[in-house]
Amino acid sequence: MGSGTPYFIPLNEAIEISCKRKIKVETEIISIDKSFQRTLSKSISALTNDPPFDNSAMDGFAVKYQETIDPPNKFNISKTIEAGNKFDNIIKTGEAARIMTGAPIPQGADSIIPIESCEVNSENNTVILNQESKPHFIRKKGENFIENDVLLEIGTFLTPEKISLCAAMGHNKVEVFRPLRIAVISTGDELKLPGETLEKGEIYESNTFGLSGLISWLGHEPVRFSSVVDNLDELRKTLDLASKDCDVIITSGGVSMGDRDFVRKIMEDEGEIDFWRIKVRPGSPPLFGAWKNTPIFGLPGNPVSSHVVFRILCAPWLRSLTSSQHPKESQIRVKLEHDIKTVPGFITLRRVHLSDDGNDILATAKHHQGSGNIASIALGEALTLLGPEDSGKKGEYCNALIL
Ligand code: AMP
Ligand code: MG
Repeated sequence: MGSGTPYFIPLNEAIEISCKRKIKVETEIISIDKSFQRTLSKSISALTNDPPFDNSAMDGFAVKYQETIDPPNKFNISKTIEAGNKFDNIIKTGEAARIMTGAPIPQGADSIIPIESCEVNSENNTVILNQESKPHFIRKKGENFIENDVLLEIGTFLTPEKISLCAAMGHNKVEVFRPLRIAVISTGDELKLPGETLEKGEIYESNTFGLSGLISWLGHEPVRFSSVVDNLDELRKTLDLASKDCDVIITSGGVSMGDRDFVRKIMEDEGEIDFWRIKVRPGSPPLFGAWKNTPIFGLPGNPVSSHVVFRILCAPWLRSLTSSQHPKESQIRVKLEHDIKTVPGFITLRRVHLSDDGNDILATAKHHQGSGNIASIALGEALTLLGPEDSGKKGEYCNALIL
């Protein structure tokens, strides 16, 4: 690592530096059927007004409001107008048209009487209204949005509701970013796949499974590699393969100060490092840079650290590539129910449970807070975002990210 390489920097600086290393994300046009959890690469505007025409919000009768103001009033039922009706319907004085929800309002009508308020006499085809109507229950043309309104901007992450909005705007296809192929590589002689039998000194490799989930959550494609033993040649081979096959590389483990921290070592000697170590707890050791022009995040091996660092460092970088704000954890304000250990100058992300005392949302760290304890984040409900100046004392308020 060069002497000028940023070292042990605040998180915001790390994000800023990483975001300077951009890669181009390709785009494609896909059917909205396949668009769930994809990100728009082009803003889209409405091809129609919504609603496209004035229509009824209720099943009932369409009348002229003025004819209802001196109840009771009797109307001749002129016709029935159903949703999808294509005719130019008109009502005349003394007439009421039976109308269904979504059906076009006939010319001359300006009020809908809900069926519940009507006395229908089907023998002589009349309807009596015992109360004054209100000029309401009409959904006006364009009251929701109008043609050419840009409702979804580039970078929009497509949720089910937003997909329905695309359809309501008239789009059956959308232009989206192609998912990035992201290599996920764990390192460590001690790692065994779940399902295998642990020998002495071994543990189950868990990071790549969770990191893959986080990558999918952001709409990208995880490519999980077999774990690499602590050996420079093996690591070099795997990184070379990953940089050829994938757009981004994420490793876990081997980025600290130790002699066996080979990711850091190989990156120092043969890669490019943009920064190493950030002021967050847990998760201070990560590095970021490039391996043969492929951006690489070297995440810490401790399971909680790898998850936390992905959420606070990798996710903002990935979102920046597609101009996206989402998906993202919601932030809430919490009150600490007990003292929480902080490190002055660092952001502290403790795994907490939430409860409500009627005034505040209380945060309690229930599980052992070691960065090796994946259960603390898996079973926790939120991560504190205690700032560099916060004390972490009982009763203090801080932001928290909902997991
Ligand atoms: P390292 O950063 O390689 O020094 O690893 C830190 C700690 O995290 C060690 O206790 C490792 O055994 C553990 N660890 C490293 N990689 C993984 C992994 N993929 N899954 C679970 N634990 C890991
Ligand atoms: Mg290791």
